[in-house]
Amino acid sequence: MKKHRIGKGLAMAALMMAQGAWAAESPAPTVSGNRLVLLGTGGGPGGRVDRSGIATLLEVGGHRYLIDAGGGVSRQLALAGVAERDVPLVFLTHLHDDHYAGLLSLASFGWSTRGTGMQLLGPAGTVDLAHALGAVMEVNARIRNAESGQDRPVAGFLAARDLTPEAGFADGTVSVKAIANSHYTLMDHARAPGAQSLSYRFDMGGKAVVFTGDTGPMAGLAEFARGADVLVAEMATAADRAMVPPPVQRHMDVEHLSPAQVGDLATQAGVRKLVLSHVGKVDEADLAQVRAHYAGPVVLGRDLQSIAF
Ligand SMILES: [Zn+2]
Repeated sequence: MKKHRIGKGLAMAALMMAQGAWAAESPAPTVSGNRLVLLGTGGGPGGRVDRSGIATLLEVGGHRYLIDAGGGVSRQLALAGVAERDVPLVFLTHLHDDHYAGLLSLASFGWSTRGTGMQLLGPAGTVDLAHALGAVMEVNARIRNAESGQDRPVAGFLAARDLTPEAGFADGTVSVKAIANSHYTLMDHARAPGAQSLSYRFDMGGKAVVFTGDTGPMAGLAEFARGADVLVAEMATAADRAMVPPPVQRHMDVEHLSPAQVGDLATQAGVRKLVLSHVGKVDEADLAQVRAHYAGPVVLGRDLQSIAF
C-alpha cells in the first residue's frame, strides 16, 4: 500500500491570514445520527445546469466522509453548511475527472482556511494525483505564507493512500471495504497500468451504505452490497446513451448500469433503500424500469438531498 505525506522536499511553508474571509473559524455544526447528503448527483465530464458533479457526504455521528469530489463540490458543501476544512477524509471511487474535478478547491481552500489535514484515499494512482495536487496548492501557499510571515506547509496538510480491495480502511467509526468493479473492462490496461475502479462499502454500528461508484454489472457486487441500508448506485439511461458518440456507447452498455440492471442489483443484494446518484437524463419510464426490478424504496437523487439511515 502506498501512503505518503504530500509535498515533502518542496520548500513549502505556510501561513494563514487572521483576517477577512479567513475569520470564519466557527466549528461546523455537530451532527447526530447517520445521514447522507447528495452534494452533487451528476455523472460524466463537463458542467451541467441541472446537477453538480458527483460527490456524496456521509455523516456518522460527528464524523464526516466525502465520497468522490466532482466539480462544484466546494459550493455544494457550503450550501450543506459544511466547510472544506471540516472534511478530513475523501474517498475516490476512481480517477475519471468527473470524480475528482473539485479536489483543488476542496483541498486548497481547506488549507487556506486553516484546516488541520485532509487525506485522500482511492485506487492506485491516488497518491500520484495527490502529489500533483500538492504542487498546484504550493503556488497559493507560497504567496499566502509570504503575506503572513507564517509557516504552514502543504506537506503537513495533504496526505494520500492508495487503497486496495484487500486493505480497506477503518478509523473506529467506520469500516470501509473496497471491491474492484467493472468500470474499466474495455480499456487497454497496458496504457494505464494498475488503473482500478472501486465500489465501497461503509459499515458503522450495525448500519451499512454501499457506493457502486461507476460500474457495469459484475459478479460479486450484489454479495458485496448484501443487506446494506442504503445502496447509492449510478445509472445510465437510454437517453444518456443516445447523447454520446458511437465509440462511447459500448462503454455505456458495458461499464455502466441500465435502469433494469440497477434494480436487479438492489434486489439481489437485498438492500433496504436504493438511491440513484451519478445520473444524467432520467424520466418516469426509466424509474418504472428500476421499480419493475426492485420492490423497495427508490430515490432519484437530487443535489443537496439529505437521506437519514
Ligand atoms: Zn463518472
